[in-house]
Amino acid sequence: MGRPDLIAGLASDTAPQASQDGPLPMIVGPARPDPRVLARMAEPARPLTDDAFIAEFAGCLRSLRLIAGAPQALACIVPGTGTIALESVAVSLLAPGRRVLVLSAGWWGDVWHDICVSCGFRADRLSLDIGADWDLGLLADTLAAGRHQAVLVTHVESSTGCRADIAAIAQVARSQEALCLVDGIAALGAERVALEQWEVDAYVASPQKALAAPAGLALTLLSDRAGELLAKRSWRAPSFSQDLARWLPVMQAMREGRFSYFQTPAGNLIAGLATALDLILGEGTGARAERHRRLRRRLHAGLAGLGIKPLVTSELISSNAITACWLPPNWTAASLVSALAEAGVLVQTGTHPAAGTATFRIGHLGNVSEADIDRTLDALGLVIGAA
Ligand SMILES: *Cc1c(COP(=O)(O)O)cnc(C)c1O
Repeated sequence: MGRPDLIAGLASDTAPQASQDGPLPMIVGPARPDPRVLARMAEPARPLTDDAFIAEFAGCLRSLRLIAGAPQALACIVPGTGTIALESVAVSLLAPGRRVLVLSAGWWGDVWHDICVSCGFRADRLSLDIGADWDLGLLADTLAAGRHQAVLVTHVESSTGCRADIAAIAQVARSQEALCLVDGIAALGAERVALEQWEVDAYVASPQKALAAPAGLALTLLSDRAGELLAKRSWRAPSFSQDLARWLPVMQAMREGRFSYFQTPAGNLIAGLATALDLILGEGTGARAERHRRLRRRLHAGLAGLGIKPLVTSELISSNAITACWLPPNWTAASLVSALAEAGVLVQTGTHPAAGTATFRIGHLGNVSEADIDRTLDALGLVIGAA
């Protein structure tokens, strides 16, 4: 894969690395791609009908299924963003007139609720307290009472760093004959994901988070049940360009080595994604999730030493990709972020709808190393010690 002259010197080293210019971005994406990913993106785009392009596209579909623990799933890779993928799942699978239940643990849960409302669906919302886990009994009762068509849930909520137990939530959804649709944008590439075992109907990802690939693609994995619904749906989706029923035949053709067109695929992004996904499979999805868990534990131990408290403290629901923290005394989020930037480390202000201004966020997803965690902790210690 790739032009040897562009990737010379890197080819023998398969462990994912991050490009290393400028301050250290400990943010919730875009993650720093490996230099081999950047090199592939700089290649002239191939003609879309070229066999080599189709093979690379099919390879991306396959890698995505493997990374999501769903070798048989229907994978879709289309131009867009994670948000576009969330909207496409809603407009493609939700039935007008039926109620849906959105589980919101913060900013992104609220966004998915807004998406449903904007698209005209009848969306109810259950909200989660910061630091708490979902009450499965309450979920079952709510679904039974509301006869919802689907449960929409965020795997890792980036505004709090809370991870939902998708296996358990999908089981409750199934017991109430509801679809389980998951925003996995901040999870895939950092957490253990086993969609087939969990029987999730739709799972959305975005390349620039823990997959450490270029932004600009909407990634979706669908179960057979979701595929059948798309094929048999009796209503018209309230979108043309984002209707997954129009995209699936294209994906199926590409998987079988034939070109098919609905909208122009993003050639250079596919090349970058192919390389990023190869690197993930080279590292091993289990090893990668374990690396992210180790990094989170190292960060949390260091934060405790500095007296800084994460919003989510229970191991069981702590994201391995993102840590949102309460601000140390006498700091605003903006002042802490700019002081850390001066010390060479980029973190982000909080985004939780209620607690955002009292929090800041550290992203530790993608090709982050232990040295990056230590550099972040050193900078934090220096900055708040000096205040
Ligand atoms: C980043 C993020 C999104 C939005 O992804 P985009 O690619 O920026 O549209 C949605 N949900 C979660 C949980 C995220 O972290």
